[in-house]
Amino acid sequence: MKLINLDDLIRPASECGCGFSHDKTLEAVLIGDLESGVKRLGNLGLSPPYAVFYDKVTYEIAGGRVAEILDAEAFLVKEPTFCEAEEKSGKLGERGTVIAVGGGTVIDVAKYAAYKRGLSFVSIPTAPSHDGIVSPIASLFTQKRRKSVLTRSPKIALIDPKILASAPRELAASGYGDILAKLVSIKDWQLGRDELGEAYCTNAEELVMKAVDLVIKALTSERDPERRLSSLTEALIYSGAAMMIVGSSRPASGSEHLISHYLDMNSEKRLKHGIQCALGAMAMAAYHQERNPNWWTEEKYRLEALRKYSQAAGIPIRLSEAGIPSKIMVEAIVEAWKIRPNRYTILHKFKPSRVEALEILKKAGLI
Ligand SMILES: [Zn+2]
Ligand SMILES: [Zn+2]
Repeated sequence: MKLINLDDLIRPASECGCGFSHDKTLEAVLIGDLESGVKRLGNLGLSPPYAVFYDKVTYEIAGGRVAEILDAEAFLVKEPTFCEAEEKSGKLGERGTVIAVGGGTVIDVAKYAAYKRGLSFVSIPTAPSHDGIVSPIASLFTQKRRKSVLTRSPKIALIDPKILASAPRELAASGYGDILAKLVSIKDWQLGRDELGEAYCTNAEELVMKAVDLVIKALTSERDPERRLSSLTEALIYSGAAMMIVGSSRPASGSEHLISHYLDMNSEKRLKHGIQCALGAMAMAAYHQERNPNWWTEEKYRLEALRKYSQAAGIPIRLSEAGIPSKIMVEAIVEAWKIRPNRYTILHKFKPSRVEALEILKKAGLI
């Protein structure tokens, strides 16, 4: 069993001086065999009885086994909605710890339900598809709107590389996309810092860029699939930890995530989260590159490189290939800032017109 140690990567808040709390709820990330990991949970300060959350798919993958080993009560998650999370939270009774076995939906529902009851939370991801694995953010739907709320990070994350390796390729592509998108998130955050005096944490930036660099290295020079996947997993943890220390998704979610949220709410065809974010990131990288003098000057972080990495990750780099009509993407670029008017990004700054949005898509090579 391997342990990812975050202690060396997270400085004390007083040393950083950013004003954020540098929350360290996440105490350990265990990497190794599922069963031995689950058996160790009792020694890590978690109290039974346990509640295990899963969905139909993740029950087969690992949820059933986890519930059995821990003699836990099982909670079947059906939809990523606040309504469902509230309902589940109400049924937790005297449980001491909530364990999520799953992808985004299960993790977010369980995270929210545990938070509502003030219970410890354990995250057991079944796919390397997004950076919500250890983040304190739960992203759920109310009616047709997606809303992200601050909850709490898990106390423990338990990762079985064999389980992640068996996830469909598209899910790993989504994970890569979610991390590559940070090239835009960080620059959007810096716009907020430089133009509105928004609080900024260099420690969170370091964690996010460590994640980005790991993924770039994995996509450009790592041939061994196992090591590639372990870099991706580590990157998803670092990005989640960045959100944890500032108590917000700000370091990991800018204009490109708003575009993905817009597509979630308005596009007939919904792609995986990180794939939509990567498409949004290509568009926003083109926009930043043209309009923001503070955009990356290092070739390895610029639009052309981002397209190359995306392609290597199996992410479509043209809208036609992704099956997204350019009309919807234009609307996303024009309208997305309204989803979160107070999260300043390049879209809030310039509020592009439809004609400009089309130009951005051309410059990004998406059409
Ligand atoms: Zn994301
Ligand atoms: Zn800080």
